[in-house]
Amino acid sequence: MPIVTMDGSQGEGGGQILRTALALSAVTGKPFVIANIRAGRAKPGLMRQHLTAVKAAAAICGAQMEGAAVGSTRLRFEPGALRAGEYAFNIGSAGSTSLVLQTVLLPLALSGGTSRVTLKGGTHNHGAPPFEFLAHAFMPLLRRLGFNADIELRRYGFYPVGGGEVHAEIQPCSPLSPLAIEERGASVSQKGEAIVSNLPFHIAERELARVAERLEWPRPELSARTEKRADGTGNVLLLRLGFENVTEVAIAFGRTGVPAETVADDAVQAVLDYLAGSAPVGGHLADQLLLPMALGAGGRFVTGKPSSHTLTNIQVIRQFLDVHIEAVELDKRSWQLTIAPSS
Ligand code: ATP
Repeated sequence: MPIVTMDGSQGEGGGQILRTALALSAVTGKPFVIANIRAGRAKPGLMRQHLTAVKAAAAICGAQMEGAAVGSTRLRFEPGALRAGEYAFNIGSAGSTSLVLQTVLLPLALSGGTSRVTLKGGTHNHGAPPFEFLAHAFMPLLRRLGFNADIELRRYGFYPVGGGEVHAEIQPCSPLSPLAIEERGASVSQKGEAIVSNLPFHIAERELARVAERLEWPRPELSARTEKRADGTGNVLLLRLGFENVTEVAIAFGRTGVPAETVADDAVQAVLDYLAGSAPVGGHLADQLLLPMALGAGGRFVTGKPSSHTLTNIQVIRQFLDVHIEAVELDKRSWQLTIAPSS
């Protein structure tokens, strides 16, 4: 089979180029070589999270590889046949378990068998989907596409200690059907959760007080708690907006020297930005939906102006699949993305 040649510095120039290529290579059986891995980042090359994604993808399809080492900026990946089964992947740092899971989830769902995957590392990371984003925003749409998987958070992993654990059970997919998300539908729930690990409880309470004041969400929908299932310190605030057709999850991270109220303001601002428009699919969800839709039966969704992650992911998908992806501006704040796999 001809080898797909990729440039990791294209567009966004981040880890997603590699992860999308790994997933698509495992599914299609097409080998690839990628140079300039993460050239757009301050520390280019494979970090532990990316290397774990490479090894995980290789494990599920018996791939041969060259260049799979921390710091490597070039990788050659030759996949074999996909194998469902029991897998455990340990990032060994606070690197994101969500991103590693997203690399193997769809290939395993398309492998024809049932898989159980345990991932260790970070569960709530800057610049990656937190577990709750996967659980409430991403997975429900995957199920609507026909992919069947359940995920469970067994232990929290916060930066810098990590030590979190996520478990996924992935069943063979149902008949795949297209997804259409054109509007949010009615608002059905608003929930806020402030979590602290080995930090004073008042941090979580102050974050929620700020959320209640600024968003006027009902107090019974806001919960503060101390998480015992975690090593080290951590503080996250998660705000979840449920609509009939879609759920958005905003996250903010507590930082040393930053008042709890300022942390809350970050998450509140993300919610206000989302509510200021009417597009149902938020920017993060948009770039993450492309792969399952391209591997599934396609469909369309309305989102904001496509991000650089989205535009780059479209380019990578086109390198592996014969799929038509189109982005059309509907108005200043909404774009329609249509994904039409060729049958
Ligand atoms: P690097 O940029 O260091 O290479 P990376 O491997 O973490 O980083 P990116 O290419 O930046 O990867 O991809 C990050 C992914 O995480 C994207 O799909 C993005 O939408 C998603 N993401 C980032 N922040 C959030 C968030 N707050 N909620 C949901 N998803 C997020």
